[in-house]
Amino acid sequence: MSEPLRLLILGAHPDDADYHAGGLAAIYSRAGHTVKMVSVTNGQSGHYRISGKELADLRRAEARSAGAVIGTEYEVWEWPDGRLQPTIEVRERIIREIRTFCPDLVLTHRSNDYHPDHRAVGQAVQDASYLVTVPPICPDVPSLRRDPVVGCLPDLFTRPAPLRADVVLDVTNELETIVQMLSCHRSQFFDWLPYNENRLGDVPAAEADKILWLRRWYEDKLRPFAERWRGELIAQYGSDRGRAIQFCEVFEISEYAAPLDAAARRRLFWFLEHR
Ligand SMILES: [Zn+2]
Repeated sequence: MSEPLRLLILGAHPDDADYHAGGLAAIYSRAGHTVKMVSVTNGQSGHYRISGKELADLRRAEARSAGAVIGTEYEVWEWPDGRLQPTIEVRERIIREIRTFCPDLVLTHRSNDYHPDHRAVGQAVQDASYLVTVPPICPDVPSLRRDPVVGCLPDLFTRPAPLRADVVLDVTNELETIVQMLSCHRSQFFDWLPYNENRLGDVPAAEADKILWLRRWYEDKLRPFAERWRGELIAQYGSDRGRAIQFCEVFEISEYAAPLDAAARRRLFWFLEHR
């Protein structure tokens, strides 16, 4: 393999990176590339019984375990969950992170999203995308000579515009790994999210049943993505496989950073067939 690639996934909460791009992270990691997952907030508001430092500490440990599933670093920053704004401070932290980690590909939320923290991270990364190349901005860290490719994590929102699937990726073979990662965020997937969906009583007590339950839950969440981007899946994988895929990740590439030209597509998504 030539130079290993570097993938940086910036989510708002400890679980967003693996929830939305765990398949790509697993593929990169297995191929020997370097992956780093980051949560910009500390996750301190994602529960109904515990909060504050207790929850932030718990979620930091959960994120670390999730990263360990695929052998990657999962860093949790300190901004309080539920109160994030796309401030200059957040933007500059992201600029420093991108300059230091030197990613080939950055993934983050879109700035249209139901959660204000997701919108804030999406906006801050968008704002950082060009400035990482500007030397007088954060002069304590050397600026980059070239922008990375920046992409948006998948969502189903439609206003003001639905996500454009520039890259579609069958993650059927990665599901087990993704669910293993998600199951490390126990406070979320076995507690907070079922509570928030008014279905806490559905979570089985036995550990093995829990994992199976989570797998079904996650599959139900993913299926609409394959339906939404069926045309793109068929274009990428051909008619037979494209029609059959139930579980995919999709990414929209930002216009504000490096373009995903044919060479970049072959390099960053080497495992896809290039037509
Ligand atoms: Zn989130």
